[in-house]
Amino acid sequence: MHGKKILITGGTGQVARPVAEALAAENEVWCLGRFGDRAARTALQERGARTVVWDMATDDLAGLPRDFTHVLHSAVHRGDGRDFEETARVNATGTARLMTHCSTAESFLYVSSGVVYDRADGTHRYRESDPLGGAAPWLPTYPIAKITAEGVARGLAETLGLPTVIARLNIAYGPYGHGGVPMILFNEMRRRQPCAVPRQGQNHCNLLHTDDVVRQVPLLWDAARVPARVVNWGGDEEVGITDLLEYMSALTGVPVLLDRCDTSRETAIFDHGVRRGLIGDCTVDWRTGIARTLAELFEEYRDRIDEYLGTHTADAAG
Ligand code: NDP
Repeated sequence: MHGKKILITGGTGQVARPVAEALAAENEVWCLGRFGDRAARTALQERGARTVVWDMATDDLAGLPRDFTHVLHSAVHRGDGRDFEETARVNATGTARLMTHCSTAESFLYVSSGVVYDRADGTHRYRESDPLGGAAPWLPTYPIAKITAEGVARGLAETLGLPTVIARLNIAYGPYGHGGVPMILFNEMRRRQPCAVPRQGQNHCNLLHTDDVVRQVPLLWDAARVPARVVNWGGDEEVGITDLLEYMSALTGVPVLLDRCDTSRETAIFDHGVRRGLIGDCTVDWRTGIARTLAELFEEYRDRIDEYLGTHTADAAG
């Protein structure tokens, strides 16, 4: 993609920052945010992105150009778990401001989440048409944030005639920001904290490496339409969270303490039919992606990871 004028929110975040940095090489990229993370702002600027302070809870977009061709709306106000009114207001209003301001864009991508689905049993592969409801005991306001903003995106796609795609993200991970859920779990392991897992079986998800996120964002923009198109957005493989923890332990030598309990953070697996039809397969397999991410974020484990991979690659070859 080149020569486009692109507006990105959430550009300091784990998901959108690598996209902004990559696209800034050959496009005019503008990032909006509060930029509490100054290092991330500087890094974006150094890669050629323009940064503009905007708090979606309070600020309008007066003074910002309107002639963006593509919008990636990745910012989220997840809420504090209690204030549903404020969570709904901030995410709905922020989305509405962006879409009305950029109503002539070629494509608008709203990053939603699998957290919007009404929870089924752990083996269910969620499809885009499945019942919505959302339940996140760990942060009850979060599903409301995403469902509310999805509603605004659907409504304004049609009233403005703005081609829109709502991508329900599974679990993204990679060497940016907090690194995603796998790296949050690895930090628990490093602190010798027990990791909550179900009493029986394990939770599963579709890990998506940020390299695939970067590659797939332009493909998703191409899939935008009126009415808004909804697509599940995750990695090809179904990854068990307990398997993930044990793999990170094997790679780094950091022991994992499993806390088999009733309160583990439930994850979801997707049916990929719509996504595969629109944008194809992913390129980074989860074991390679996790090893690379750990090595990039935690220098102290690099040698050990190389040694593990060397041994196991040799075993596989032999
Ligand atoms: P992060 O928590 O890493 O970043 C959140 C981003 O939102 C930051 O860039 C922040 O920018 C911005 N933001 C928050 N509040 C405001 C505000 N009031 N005004 C303007 N910007 C704001 O998020 P992720 O990158 O992990 O997630 C990106 C999107 O993907 C979100 O919509 C999330 O719901 C969705 N998602 C992510 C998943 C994942 O695995 N990471 C899984 C499923 C969905 P700043 O602080 O500079 O204002």
